[in-house]
Amino acid sequence: MTRRVVLATHNEHKVRELQQILAEALGPEAGLGLEIVSMAAFPEVGEIPETSVTFAGNARLKAEHVAMRTSLPALADDSGLAVEVLGGSPGIFSARWSGLHAGEDLPRAEKDRRNLQLLLDQLADVRDEHRRAAFRCAAVLAIPGGTTVTSEGEVPGVIVREPLGDNGFGYDPIFVPDGDTRTLAQYTDVEKNAISHRGRAFRAMVPLLREHL
Ligand code: IMP
Repeated sequence: MTRRVVLATHNEHKVRELQQILAEALGPEAGLGLEIVSMAAFPEVGEIPETSVTFAGNARLKAEHVAMRTSLPALADDSGLAVEVLGGSPGIFSARWSGLHAGEDLPRAEKDRRNLQLLLDQLADVRDEHRRAAFRCAAVLAIPGGTTVTSEGEVPGVIVREPLGDNGFGYDPIFVPDGDTRTLAQYTDVEKNAISHRGRAFRAMVPLLREHL
């Protein structure tokens, strides 16, 4: 029997990333028989307010809300960039670091560009050895009226001084993972999924999917 699971995000880029990560992690084994559907199938479930102050808390709010509204198991993630010298910021404010109001109805790519530019300006005087950061992700599976489970992943690296690369989204063009010289925006989708915070969190979720679905 095929079970439908909803990905509780309106970010189409993330939907694509997560579908690739899960397809690969679940493998050809049809045993789990999962069909991963996006929120596009449920236009009546609007944006979900992220009122928690942790990645795991926000992912849980999204997953539980969507599971309740769709009566289907829901998978959500919440993620962001934590810069050491900024005490972990932008963190949960990553998507709106350059401000909520002025840029509210801008296209995502323009918001991303403004967020990234503000961060670069804030770090302009910070020396190379103090530019450490990590992308973090919490993934949550919520079963309607039942269990909620969480997994986490992170990728450590540094913030460079100039954006480089055209792939990915968000802060990818200014983040170089440890052990490489390329930014994440210079990775192919497959390369990024193999090491990314989201890849790690969702691969850690697979045994939980097997256990709870
Ligand atoms: P979320 O959609 O609430 O999880 O917000 C995540 C925000 O963190 C995005 O808008 C990006 O600014 C940033 N972010 C999360 N994951 C990534 C990534 O893989 N690459 C670049 N930026 C990311």
